[in-house]
Amino acid sequence: MPDGRTGQDLRIASGRIEAIGTQLPVPEGAQVIDARGLLLSPPFVDAHFHMDATLSHGLPRINQSGTLLEGIALWGELKPLLTQEALVERALQYCDWAVAKGLLAIRTHVDVCDDRLLAVEALLHVKDRIKPYLDLQLVAFPQDGLLRTPSALANLKRALDRGVDVVGGIPHFELTMEDGAESVRILCELAAERGLRVDMHCDESDDPMSRHIETLTFHTQRLGLHGRVTGSHLTSMHSMDNYYVSKLLPLMREAQVHAIANPLINITLQGRHDTYPKRRGMTRVPELMAAGINVAFGHDCVMDPWYSLGSGDMLEVAHMGLHVAQMTSQSQMRACFDAVTVNSARLMGLDTYGLEVGKSADFVLLQARDPVEAIRLRATRLLVVRRGQVLARCAPGEAALSMPGRPASVDWMIRH
Ligand SMILES: [Zn+2]
Repeated sequence: MPDGRTGQDLRIASGRIEAIGTQLPVPEGAQVIDARGLLLSPPFVDAHFHMDATLSHGLPRINQSGTLLEGIALWGELKPLLTQEALVERALQYCDWAVAKGLLAIRTHVDVCDDRLLAVEALLHVKDRIKPYLDLQLVAFPQDGLLRTPSALANLKRALDRGVDVVGGIPHFELTMEDGAESVRILCELAAERGLRVDMHCDESDDPMSRHIETLTFHTQRLGLHGRVTGSHLTSMHSMDNYYVSKLLPLMREAQVHAIANPLINITLQGRHDTYPKRRGMTRVPELMAAGINVAFGHDCVMDPWYSLGSGDMLEVAHMGLHVAQMTSQSQMRACFDAVTVNSARLMGLDTYGLEVGKSADFVLLQARDPVEAIRLRATRLLVVRRGQVLARCAPGEAALSMPGRPASVDWMIRH
């Protein structure tokens, strides 16, 4: 298992893990899966995604420059053309991809700046339909700014009334720093009133003076929202003054604020105004972790106006995060695996998650011996199980090679 346990049997009954131990007796008629030598992991969890935009690549046209600005323009062109049926169809298709990749919980932001709340309705419907297979958590996201858009706050409240789970925000996109801070106050108070969690797009900028994470941390403390608030992206922290960060991180730790980096998107969208040297833009992942802050990696985008790539593979996300943050020590590589599994589950508050007795029988069997090999190979998901039911299977990956002069078996080349 990713936490280092080996040689264990798991006994599953009624969708739960009933026992974990060595040489457990096999109950009469039980199905036995031999997982010797393979990595058994709790499912992948994506803590930051945009399911209302996913798989819209090419609609109404392709982002030619690959920049954030053309992406925003494209989303603006696409929004009036969206239909509920198409939103639902694309989201369900993505959920199929996710399940096949062992990704069984996703927190998705949903744009509430459209007065029709079309995407909200669509994703609430998807959440319900996909429930047996995948946990979907929705964040009410005022994409065009809470104070900048006249109807955003009212729409956001309507979305929460209809069952959206988490309060979102985008303080760095408000018109002034003051408005940004004010939006954080309003949204945190709203979450406290309603007993909800908070997850804001926060400081997704290369501007070292974008310090809304400080305000978010302050209101978390003030309102007693400890452990229920997440700052997503936090890319400005990459560029902040070191002394300031040394003051900020202990405050985040004290307020138990969680952090999410989105490595694939941060490395492609940040630093675009730089010549050389060119900043990476991803937040300070190893430093946040060392300060005792829970850090997750999100996928953010798959084939949408902002990003033409991606496949719902959280191992690809971990692989990129590891490289961008230069987290190449043995313990850091394992921490990158945790960032797409247990850390994400923790910030989403998934309380039946984990390979422990009494938890849901949800897991992925990977064609890898340990988390580092899983990341290196973006390992094949041999088996995806939820509540004790097999949802997806994949045959072990192998190549049939025919190379004159080479030994017939080259399995070692492929796997090791
Ligand atoms: Zn995002």
